[in-house]
Amino acid sequence: MTGITPVPFVEGWSFAQTLGEGTYGEVKLAINAQMTEAVAVKIIELKKAKHSYDSIRKEVAIHKMLNHENVIKFFGTRKETDHQYIFLAYASGGELFDRIEPDIGMPQNQAQNFFRQLIEGVSYLHSLGITHRDIKPENLLLDENDVLKIVDFGFATIFRHKGRERKIDKWCGTPPYVSPEVLLQKPYSAEPADIWSCAIVLVAMLAGELPWDEPSLDCDEYCSWLQHKIQYSPWKKIGTLPLALLRKILDENPAKRATVQSIRKDRWFKEQLRQKRRLSSPVSSPYSKRKVAAYSVSESEEMSLSQPEPGIAFTTSNVSDESVGNLLHVTLSQPVHAENMLLSTQLLGTPADSQTALQRLVKRMTRFWSNKSSHDTMTAISDVLQKLEHTVKKVTATELTVTTKDRRRRKLIFKVFVYPGVGELVTSQAKDYQTLVDVRLSKGDGLEMKRCYDNLFKRLNMDLMIRKSVVGAA
Ligand code: ATP
Repeated sequence: MTGITPVPFVEGWSFAQTLGEGTYGEVKLAINAQMTEAVAVKIIELKKAKHSYDSIRKEVAIHKMLNHENVIKFFGTRKETDHQYIFLAYASGGELFDRIEPDIGMPQNQAQNFFRQLIEGVSYLHSLGITHRDIKPENLLLDENDVLKIVDFGFATIFRHKGRERKIDKWCGTPPYVSPEVLLQKPYSAEPADIWSCAIVLVAMLAGELPWDEPSLDCDEYCSWLQHKIQYSPWKKIGTLPLALLRKILDENPAKRATVQSIRKDRWFKEQLRQKRRLSSPVSSPYSKRKVAAYSVSESEEMSLSQPEPGIAFTTSNVSDESVGNLLHVTLSQPVHAENMLLSTQLLGTPADSQTALQRLVKRMTRFWSNKSSHDTMTAISDVLQKLEHTVKKVTATELTVTTKDRRRRKLIFKVFVYPGVGELVTSQAKDYQTLVDVRLSKGDGLEMKRCYDNLFKRLNMDLMIRKSVVGAA
């Protein structure tokens, strides 16, 4: 029927939905037959990854060593002829970039909360002698309680072993997030480079934009920062205290750059920020997205305020570590805290509701409902995207691939999926809204994708009757 029909995987488990894409394959959500347990499965197509077996082995070996609240939990791995599967705890709160409103960011207290968690996660990695080397919002996920989880250890490596530290000599990362010394193509220290990337994430959270294409002297925006010109965006949008912290971290000299220890002593980092309008607590509820948006002053405020709410809660249940392992046929490399991957059956509802429940399992702000059939919705979306001069490829009747260039002239690819008939199952409010539209990043900058999404949404709003909220809307 729709793209969300579960596809059988191993006995008792089905793939419900694609959560994301990577270079060598996809990350899918696997759900057990009773719909009580969920796990994220990274599927690597070994043919595509022929020249990267060693790095996959390394990613798995590093991930196996990790056990921290701010690092995604690794359950195990399994290799077949053509595929390697990596089983991870499902981060049901979505991606961090999805919480960042383009050009606006997010409330300061939320940015501080996520930044603190990011520093704790990175500090943990460094304490084990591991550097991530690709810290960016796309690699930071959230669980149901907004606990930040670092993912994707594809670039991670060991920089300290038995107390002996080595410099890194390989260029790694994503240009806007890498530190200046990484671009110099000389050996560099691992820890300050990761800390720099954390600060760029903080800029994105506080201002909704990135400060530069890359921190090189060829880049005017970076030169302005070096000359202390803070009257421009993004700096002018950032308060004095967080800006003072950024000044300490975004020091081009890695030896002078703020360390985890000095960041922990920083005034803004330690400050107990007041929660405005009784909004968002450090561990917020599934309704936190609506609360985030209440701070916004742009048009996007209205849109965000009416996001589809997940409408599910998460509880524990008595499934043993062993049974989870058996079901997945994985050799568990560490004790599994099953409570992290269990979904309440009661809230998922009856099998008849299962399609809707599957939709609700994946939280994304880049979703909306349309009152038209999936065909008409798809046609309208295609037309708008083409008017916006994006290249649109129809993959199937329910899937489009959109290729474009972002504001920084970098390649951006995203996908649009329509799910017919889901709305009718949701609530009586949803009756008029037949089709769910889901927009997902494929390659490029997540913030830029959200910008395109906002544009698409605004334009569609004129042609179609669409709304962002059905489930749980006030
Ligand atoms: P890349 O090639 O970009 O490095 P990758 O193949 O290493 O990607 P990841 O970055 O680990 O894959 O994951 C890709 C996307 O899949 C993430 O951005 C996220 O949207 C989704 N994803 C990954 N792991 C999880 C998880 N545990 N829970 C929920 N979603 C996840």
